[in-house]
Amino acid sequence: MKTIGLLGGMSWESTTSYYQHLNRLARDRLGGLHSAKLLIWSADFAAIADFQAAGRWSDAADLLVDAARRLEAAGADALLICANTMHLVANEVQAAVSVPLIHVADATAARLTAAGARRPLLLATRFTMEQAFYRDRLTASGISAVVPPADHRERLHAIIFDELVQGRFAPESRREVAAIAARALADQGADAVLLGCTEFALLVSGDDFAAPLFDTTAIHAEAAMTFALAD
Ligand code: GLU
Repeated sequence: MKTIGLLGGMSWESTTSYYQHLNRLARDRLGGLHSAKLLIWSADFAAIADFQAAGRWSDAADLLVDAARRLEAAGADALLICANTMHLVANEVQAAVSVPLIHVADATAARLTAAGARRPLLLATRFTMEQAFYRDRLTASGISAVVPPADHRERLHAIIFDELVQGRFAPESRREVAAIAARALADQGADAVLLGCTEFALLVSGDDFAAPLFDTTAIHAEAAMTFALAD
């Protein structure tokens, strides 16, 4: 089994999800006492979030590049950025190391395509919903993501930053995310719901939506375990 390096702490709430997914996948695929071989670098999210809010993406990239090099030096055979948003600097991270960075949007596009979904409703931070880096990467794989209208994007972003990354998972926010998705599904003809924020699956589940649900955290972890177990 190869060793996966996790660029985590973005937030640590979802890094724990990655840790659980990867270990359960190793156990499910190999049986017995097997668990995942992992290296985890966990950021202080306050610094990352400040850079994001200020649009200081090259400073955020510097943090991740430094961490990626440390993980590679420590023996990681591949890297995961355990967040969708910070894939905005995925190219810089990949350029700084010689091991592969398993890109969340590539893994997600492959899963959507295999399931026959082509037009998912993307629920994520404003950065991920509004900037080109994520939707363009999906488009390159034939996936045309749609996003909710501006006022709903604002609410989703606030729920992520004011609640989920701080470990607050409120029933009223769960209902609000479900209602935002229901409206967008009805208005925009989407054929799936894509949880493009790694904390969302801690709040909502498939029962909350009237379309098939795709969770980037689970999909990303599965792609990593497939890599780790390949010859
Ligand atoms: N974990 C989140 C994501 O998947 C949001 C936190 C962040 O902005 O990095 O995008």
